[in-house]
Amino acid sequence: MSEQLDRRNFLKMGGAVLAAGTAGLTGSAIAAGKAKSAAVATGMKAALPPAKGPRLVIVGGGTSGLTIAKYAKKEYPKFDVVLVEKRDMYSSCFSSNLWYSGVIDLEFLADHSFLDAARNNGYLYFNATVTGLDRTSRTLATSEGDIQYDFLVIAPGISYDYARIGVKDPGAQAALRQTFPGGFISPTEHVTIRRKVQEFEGGVFVQTVPSGNYRCLPGPYERACMIASVFKKNRIKGKVLVLDANADITIKAAGFHAAFNELYKGIIEYKPSSEVTGIDLEKRTLKTEFDTIKFDDAAIYSNIRASTLIEHLGLMDPKSAQKEARISQLHYNLIGDERVYVTGDSRPHPYSKSANTSNTEGKYVAKVLAARAQGKDIAWYSPRTICYSMVSADPLEAISVDAGYVLNKEGTAIGGFSPDTKLFENRDGAKGKATLEWARGMYRDMFEA
Ligand SMILES: Cc1cc2nc3c(=O)[nH]c(=O)nc-3n(C[C@H](O)[C@H](O)[C@H](O)COP(=O)(O)OP(=O)(O)OC[C@H]3O[C@@H](n4cnc5c(N)ncnc54)[C@H](O)[C@@H]3O)c2cc1C
Repeated sequence: MSEQLDRRNFLKMGGAVLAAGTAGLTGSAIAAGKAKSAAVATGMKAALPPAKGPRLVIVGGGTSGLTIAKYAKKEYPKFDVVLVEKRDMYSSCFSSNLWYSGVIDLEFLADHSFLDAARNNGYLYFNATVTGLDRTSRTLATSEGDIQYDFLVIAPGISYDYARIGVKDPGAQAALRQTFPGGFISPTEHVTIRRKVQEFEGGVFVQTVPSGNYRCLPGPYERACMIASVFKKNRIKGKVLVLDANADITIKAAGFHAAFNELYKGIIEYKPSSEVTGIDLEKRTLKTEFDTIKFDDAAIYSNIRASTLIEHLGLMDPKSAQKEARISQLHYNLIGDERVYVTGDSRPHPYSKSANTSNTEGKYVAKVLAARAQGKDIAWYSPRTICYSMVSADPLEAISVDAGYVLNKEGTAIGGFSPDTKLFENRDGAKGKATLEWARGMYRDMFEA
């Protein structure tokens, strides 16, 4: 069974951000020459060979950065590509929910090497943390020295915005992230959540769902299913309490409601319109507008924003509710600077913040960069949001969505879903198998030649 996604659904998925993104397009341009640099260069040169062609530096070896590094080199072999990534071990965020229920092992997520990706695809992996940017001299400052660029892509992902769930004190934010991590950014959070699920002895396990255009719309609901499947299998006397800030499940609602009611009755309790407004870590209580809820353990997924790096480097749109970058929705360059691009989940577009979106968008941005390096331009085309969600671990069963996007009437910004967008909400084994195949395909595309 499939269902067309309509404009109402589109607005639910990303409409709030659409307004901010469009505003950014019409605002006055920041002249590249007047670029505000976030930090002075270190003065130490990064240990890199001299560039053999126009140097394209990419920040962030996630789905977006890895895709662009590979495909920009393919599109324009003269590019001298350097991927700057602060992690020295890759492990994917996507598919991590499946690890909690034993559908996959850790190797599935982490047996992928930045070194191999770079060697297989003719670019350099530079293990460093970006700390500053001077757009006037085209210098990127990193913990391992300065890098000159001809073109720069910044794809650092997201950060949590704990203030939006009432946790404003930096100390309390750090304690919350350490005690009840959201599991939507870094692999170390996944390890902690898996241990919590495996060791859970009973009671209430809370999974929160934030408002706004958060990363991976179906992710928290899929996770609730995977945790509930562990409780069901191990006969744990406990429940997963899904506290959703939204009025209903934000995507694939019929499919998730069916799974909650038919597979996990009495194990998953779903509470809509339950925005978290405060947390007491000592007492293990959460506050919503109407309730105070006691819990035994939790994965607290707060609201999100673009990576703090975007703000730190002076690339943030001050009008953006999620502090996303001030870029052209069509070409991804910073408004007024065609040398600097922001992609992936730090973008202001009302797209679903997902790996498939970042991957297909990355291939388009690679073409934009190749064209611009040769003084040309290309026509916009849509990324694709294909997203599977496993709802049953044994037997494997999933639901999915396949969405594209169209421009507004003026052709200046994203206007809504494309007419061929479809939801597949009847869970079955074929989609369960396809969920794993999709992930394997993503790893192949990012790490192999
Ligand atoms: C639990 C979970 C389930 C998901 N499930 C799915 C799914 O089923 N399907 C799907 O399509 N998507 C899914 N996603 C979403 C998907 O993983 C992300 O949307 C996607 O990976 C975003 O890619 P990105 O490149 O923008 O960000 P990321 O993949 O987060 O990459 C950002 C990179 O930038 C690096 N970085 C940040 N700051 C710096 C710095 N200062 N210097 C150097 N490097 C830096 C980071 O280390 C990181 O490697 C899921 C995500 C999670 C967490």
